[in-house]
Amino acid sequence: MITGKNYIGFELSAKGTKTYRTFNPKENKENEHTFTEATKDEINKAAQLASKAFKQYRTISGNKRATFLNAIADEIEALGDTLVQTYTSESGLPEGRAKGERGRTVGQLRMFAKLIENDAWREPTIDTAIPDRAPAPKPDLRQLQVPIGPIVVFGASNFPLAYSTAGGDTASALAAGCPVIVKSHPMHAGTGELVASAIIKAAKDTGMPEGVFSNLNSSGIEVGQQLVSHPKVKGVGFTGSINGGRALYDLAAKRDEPIPVFAEMGSINPVIITKKALEKRASEIASTYAGSITLGTGQFCTNPGLILTLESDFTSIFIEDLGEKTANIDSYCMLNPNIHSAFNKKGAEVIEQPETTLVAEYKGNVPDNYAKAKVVTAKGDAFLKNPKLHQEVFGPFSLVVQCKDEIQLLKIIENLEGQLTGTIIAEKEEYSSLSEIIESLQDRVGRIIFNGVPTGVEVCDAMTHGGPYPASTDSRFTAVGNHSIKRWVRPFSYQDFPSELLPEVLKS
Ligand code: NAP
Repeated sequence: MITGKNYIGFELSAKGTKTYRTFNPKENKENEHTFTEATKDEINKAAQLASKAFKQYRTISGNKRATFLNAIADEIEALGDTLVQTYTSESGLPEGRAKGERGRTVGQLRMFAKLIENDAWREPTIDTAIPDRAPAPKPDLRQLQVPIGPIVVFGASNFPLAYSTAGGDTASALAAGCPVIVKSHPMHAGTGELVASAIIKAAKDTGMPEGVFSNLNSSGIEVGQQLVSHPKVKGVGFTGSINGGRALYDLAAKRDEPIPVFAEMGSINPVIITKKALEKRASEIASTYAGSITLGTGQFCTNPGLILTLESDFTSIFIEDLGEKTANIDSYCMLNPNIHSAFNKKGAEVIEQPETTLVAEYKGNVPDNYAKAKVVTAKGDAFLKNPKLHQEVFGPFSLVVQCKDEIQLLKIIENLEGQLTGTIIAEKEEYSSLSEIIESLQDRVGRIIFNGVPTGVEVCDAMTHGGPYPASTDSRFTAVGNHSIKRWVRPFSYQDFPSELLPEVLKS
């Protein structure tokens, strides 16, 4: 049941006076439930409870924490259709996507549960003493990863389940042994509350300490700012805009005790298509990319917003074909009127530049909040000179750049801001000549896709979802997959400890 209240530890609480509702973009009307924003006192209480819970939670065995994570997954599944209906009414996303994202969310929780069943992920390292080493004896040193403390998670607007309340950041932090306070995303506060109720039930049923999880409502930036500034908070996970992520990163850096902020932000995900690939299969590539540009109404951080080609007749034909195919895909609603208007505004900013040409745009009339997909083109010189062409247009939009030669193509890659992904579309006979492109791209992105599309992020051990700034604030870590747990731990060494005082995993 949705109450519109905050979960402060195990208690539902609504002491504030500021309220708001979520919005159904498909029906263009507000949803029925009213949510109450958390007050300063409630924020402080959640942080104090999390800090207290941390003392106990970090000592709970991996096996027991795994039971907790599996119970969360079970409780989310038990929410059934109520969760699916709330999700679709708050995001406009279709039922199939809701179910797919729910599967991914519970899959991630179970994946982290499996990971922490034994302590191998904590990288136990034993360096035994050499007392008779000359000129100085070597001490006994044993290292283990330990959790850093309470984490604040900002849910993503475009993934109400998989990157939100019980999404990858929350699941990995809880797995690591860190309590979590979620700053619920205002666009899907009802989905967030339902998932929060599943987490609280699982915590109670599996004997976790109160404060291991809290869920705070807010419809403005203040709650998030207070949380990030709170001295009991020790780390932050964020998915969203560059402005939001950067503001929180700066705020965290200015604290008396700076804390890490792992923000996953904007990306235009360059796609490089070689001349030969266009000569051989331009039509097939255009069909595949029209699908990728418009997938989920373009609202993916891995959306292919920039396509880099070399000028040729085949390229001109490809651009026309891509435009037509993209513009012919049915229009669909965006997540929220704000995101829809940002899409229109940022797209118009690119199209208004004298050096760009609008190749094609969805032609039909569309209801409120529905996106008109666009393909735009520009020459390589213009792209190099005009930073406005580098910005993310969040939605079904792609800019095809025509480079005059490979030297210019490489210069463009080298001048790109950090990206989550890069993609190379090439023919087999060209493989031996791709090393410069691969090396330049590797310097700018977290993952290179070969002969595929960037949309679709597999959750597995070898996935890197992150990249040089501004794709993420710390390119050394991934936000997806088992390795994302490393964001919430720090290395700790025991020197010359008696065996009986060492954690079990570090005993000889
Ligand atoms: P957002 O504006 O960055 O907001 C994300 C979360 O951060 C919200 O909960 C928001 O709180 C909070 N926040 C934002 N700025 C803040 C600040 N200065 N201080 C404290 N908290 C702050 O992202 P969004 O609402 O999801 O979507 C807006 C735009 O972000 C989109 O149009 C798109 O351009 C971009 N976006 C990009 C990606 C990507 O993966 N690349 C994903 C999602 C969105 P409140 O809403 O309560 O103010």
